[in-house]
Amino acid sequence: MRAVVIDRPGSFQVADLPDPTPRAGEVVVRVDCCGICGTDLHILAGEFPPTPYPIIPGHEFAGTVVARGRDIEPDLPEGARVAVDPSLLCGYCRRCRAGRNNLCENWGAIGDTVSGAFAEYVAVPAVNAYRLPDHIDGQAGAMAEPLACAVHGLRRLGPVQGDTAVLTGAGTMGLLLLQLLRHAGAGPVTVIDKVPGRLEVARKLGAARTVTDATTLGGERFEIALDATGVPAAIETAIGLLDRGGRMLVFGVAPAGATIGVSPFRVYNDELAITGSMAILRSFGQAADLLTSGAVDPRPLLAEPLPLEQFGEAVNRVRTGQGIKWHIRPALV
Ligand SMILES: [Zn+2]
Ligand SMILES: [Zn+2]
Repeated sequence: MRAVVIDRPGSFQVADLPDPTPRAGEVVVRVDCCGICGTDLHILAGEFPPTPYPIIPGHEFAGTVVARGRDIEPDLPEGARVAVDPSLLCGYCRRCRAGRNNLCENWGAIGDTVSGAFAEYVAVPAVNAYRLPDHIDGQAGAMAEPLACAVHGLRRLGPVQGDTAVLTGAGTMGLLLLQLLRHAGAGPVTVIDKVPGRLEVARKLGAARTVTDATTLGGERFEIALDATGVPAAIETAIGLLDRGGRMLVFGVAPAGATIGVSPFRVYNDELAITGSMAILRSFGQAADLLTSGAVDPRPLLAEPLPLEQFGEAVNRVRTGQGIKWHIRPALV
């Protein structure tokens, strides 16, 4: 099969490799679409410490089951269309046993620590595969993974019904969080992003107000704030926009060494709650359901998928902020 292989940080190629064969409990998925996200850029740059090299990246994907290992139940037959939760969890560490599997001491993920889906085929544990209905195509199905991260984020934040909200960042994650906020009955959502084109999409998806600069908000305060940029200055801005009693979700991935300034007096006196959210925790099925029901519409975020050979071009488009979400379609047509 053809696959993108990152040999070492900074270097990748499209290589010919043997097709994977399923071990017991695994199925092989023929990849229809796989999304590129910031984590892939970090893996390419050597900035995602658990990654072993060489690696086939790609963790946001959907496709069709084409082979089954031993011990696979009949309800996951060849031909089943699936989206795949990339999370690999040990199940026996202290945090797994406490139900916090996304913080597993032996955490891994398909495409991050083992071979992923920027490839024609990938072997995955059957327990990670979620069946998709026929009306959800592979590209929309590949959005179940980022959406599952957003679903977990909103659960971490807690009930949002009626709360006024401000959201920094109208990229893929921001626009998914926006739709979840609307679906969960949040009050008016204000979205801040520097890119006017993204704000236009945010308005289409239900943002009550969009601004390119928080200073134009005239001192308004919000009951909840969410950051989907990972930019330390934007996180500071978002915390600064919280009303007394406000709740903040730090969702975007900031550089590991970055710090921000927060007034401990404000955290105390205003009873601020600042919450983090990491990846997926039993939220993949709900994400697939939200796509299936149409409650979340990924289509305004999507562009025509690119072939495997244009992985470098897709990375470049993500890096330079072109479009919103980019996918690779590995099959030769
Ligand atoms: Zn991702
Ligand atoms: Zn564990």
